[in-house]
Amino acid sequence: MSNNQQLQARKNAAIASGQGTLYPAYVDHAKNAEIWDVDGNRYIDFGAGIAVCNTGHAHPKLVKAVSEQMARFSHTCVMVNPYESAVLLAEKITALAPGDTPKKAAFITTGAEAVENAVKVARAYTGRRGVIAFNGGFHGRTNMTMALTGKITPYKDKFGPFPADIFHVPFPIAMHGISEKDALKALTNLFKVDIAPADVAALIIEPIQGEGGFYEASPAFLQALRTLCDEHGIVMICDEIQSGFARTGKMFCTEYAGIEPDIMTMAKGIAGGVPLSAVVGKQHIMDAAPVGGLGGTYGGSPLATAAALAVLEVIEEEQLIDRARAIEAQFFETLGQLQSRYPQLIGDIRGKGAMIAIELVTDGDADQPNVDLTKAIIGEAMNHGLVLLACGFYGNVIRFLPPLTIDDATLAEGLNAFCALFEKA
Ligand code: PLP
Repeated sequence: MSNNQQLQARKNAAIASGQGTLYPAYVDHAKNAEIWDVDGNRYIDFGAGIAVCNTGHAHPKLVKAVSEQMARFSHTCVMVNPYESAVLLAEKITALAPGDTPKKAAFITTGAEAVENAVKVARAYTGRRGVIAFNGGFHGRTNMTMALTGKITPYKDKFGPFPADIFHVPFPIAMHGISEKDALKALTNLFKVDIAPADVAALIIEPIQGEGGFYEASPAFLQALRTLCDEHGIVMICDEIQSGFARTGKMFCTEYAGIEPDIMTMAKGIAGGVPLSAVVGKQHIMDAAPVGGLGGTYGGSPLATAAALAVLEVIEEEQLIDRARAIEAQFFETLGQLQSRYPQLIGDIRGKGAMIAIELVTDGDADQPNVDLTKAIIGEAMNHGLVLLACGFYGNVIRFLPPLTIDDATLAEGLNAFCALFEKA
């Protein structure tokens, strides 16, 4: 078997550079929150495959569910010969989605496809063209979702033209001088200048921006958007692809605001690593799409729906919603101590549950992103036995997304390793 260095050379020769490598540490195996590479190095996983492995790596329940499913039947396509696991999963996630309005689900495979399909449903239901998204938001790498995404580099550079009728407004970030009032005013202005509200099909928002830097939309802001969407008959889509499935200390982050979205998009943590995504929305809206108009060959595959049912069981049995809150407390305590030692470098600590970020700055100034320090920390993480991810508009935010099943000792070890890494950088 090749070692890390050899594999990296082979990867560079065989896989397009558009799929870059953050850590040339080729995985041999992983268990819960620990990863071992082919050279025998061990890493604590603070990325969980970008918020996918909420239930950890190789959870015995998921291994059993997926193996048993593969042995029973591999794939039939839910639109050809359906199976009970898809129906049961739809029953469960529609019941879990916030609000009392009866709901339906549609299954696809990736987060971007979930967003694409949510927009299709909203357009079919309203018969309108416009879609409003937020600056700094991230919704995927397909043509429509690139258009909805707020950040240009590297997601949109060179890839246009994009679909028309997509509009962006500011996401409120108080520390960067954008108030909720400013953001709402920008929406009112958009309706006056660019598109009449009667032409807007949907507004899409991440209740906590993921790739954008873990900025939270406050309950008051989400409630104001809910009211605005109600006033104008606009379909409100909450993108919970990164924040869903217990990640933020609620099953879905939108619950903190007490609102009922018209549609939610879900992916990542839903099936713990088997590709699956879902659009879950109010029944009368979801059924506006014509028969055969949603989904795809792999959408809601038997392997994925079996895995997702196991994920839901693990979340409940291992009380991962509570666990996410305990992880949050641990992160805030340790990172808070680090910030008090380095107030000039750590501008902000934020997030919910096991979705926590620190913003690195220069001279304690929120408007001076410290990209060099962020790059140095991410660059050295591997040598400190950590998998860490960056995010944010300027790339100066380090985000922590550990599996929710991480045990206390591994969490403490990972946090200590991070503090040592930070002090050295
Ligand atoms: N929406 C959000 C909020 C995301 O975080 C992501 C991925 O990071 C996506 C959509 C796109 O998901 P995928 O990469 O599975 O297409």
